[in-house]
Amino acid sequence: MAYKCAKCGTEVQNVYEGLVRCPSCGYRILYKLREPISKTVKAD
Ligand SMILES: [Zn+2]
Repeated sequence: MAYKCAKCGTEVQNVYEGLVRCPSCGYRILYKLREPISKTVKAD
């Protein structure tokens, strides 16, 4: 699963549990780019 750094926007391909860190700036908050299961919610 790919992640994106919340600070500098660098895409991170390999994230290990317990070692979530941007390789570029060292920021520890990454957003998930793609979910394996897509959920669709319809209000109507
Ligand atoms: Zn970063």
